[in-house]
Amino acid sequence: VRQLPVMSDTSLRDILRAPAGPVDLSGIDPRATPRAPGGKSKAVTATRKQGERLAGLQEMLYAEGTMDGATKRVLLVLQGMDTCGKDGTVKHVIGMLNPQGCHITGFKKPTPEELQHHFLWRIRRAVPPPGQVGIFNRSHYEDVLVVRVHDLVPPEVWGKRYEEINRFERQLAGNGVTIVKCFLHISAKEQRRRLLARLADPTKRWKFNPGDLSERARWKDYQQAYEAVLERCSTGVAPWYIVPADRKWYRNWAVAQLLGEALGGMSLAYPQPELDIPALTARLRGGPAS
Ligand code: AMP
Ligand code: MG
Repeated sequence: VRQLPVMSDTSLRDILRAPAGPVDLSGIDPRATPRAPGGKSKAVTATRKQGERLAGLQEMLYAEGTMDGATKRVLLVLQGMDTCGKDGTVKHVIGMLNPQGCHITGFKKPTPEELQHHFLWRIRRAVPPPGQVGIFNRSHYEDVLVVRVHDLVPPEVWGKRYEEINRFERQLAGNGVTIVKCFLHISAKEQRRRLLARLADPTKRWKFNPGDLSERARWKDYQQAYEAVLERCSTGVAPWYIVPADRKWYRNWAVAQLLGEALGGMSLAYPQPELDIPALTARLRGGPAS
């Protein structure tokens, strides 16, 4: 088994995990940097190092996934307000992994076909197969966030979804899925800054969606909807992590660290198939080019 660097800090999960009971997001500082290894430049270096470790663990996961009966996989769920950095996290954190072992799905406004099905239908189809790291850029949680804020279905319908989601995630966990759910927590002030930057920069303007301004106007409603999610859907097998995300370098470091802790806890190892190595070696030595 290949030696991987040992990371001393193994408990960011305990620090960022959503607290039990009611969650008050206004009391959690989006600029905070708990457990960060120093400031920006140290964190960037540590993130790169963590990326190498992640890639090594991912390779073992992938290797295990090629074996009959394999079930282990990872599901990273990214949620947060517009401009919170979901795309940036995919680029900077998932970008350090092997694309062949990643399964990225962005969930947009449901298509007419998707709307004809139960809200988990499109989600189930995107669950990563064994050996893969699945990434949800938005997720089934939109069905109790934007849907709740905009009354897209009656309260009796979305009200039942929290339990449905918990049941679904429990099922996933039972099928070998290690679930890592990150709420990227930004401030309204930081969102304004990022939206203004999008408007001002011709290379970012394509990302500006005037509709984001009406969502921004519902800031308080969204924070409340997120608080309900964090309170009701943070479970033992699928906890929520609240990642302060006003500083991009901290966000990247923290998500990489959380993933590293999750993968590190999966008891991954390279499979050792039963091969007659001396016989196979001899055949190779005697074949073409000998
Ligand atoms: P973006 O992530 O910026 O590409 O935007 C995707 C948009 O799709 C966001 O405005 C989401 O709120 C919206 N969206 C995602 N899932 C749902 C859903 N289940 N119902 C309604 N809107 C959704
Ligand atoms: Mg957007």
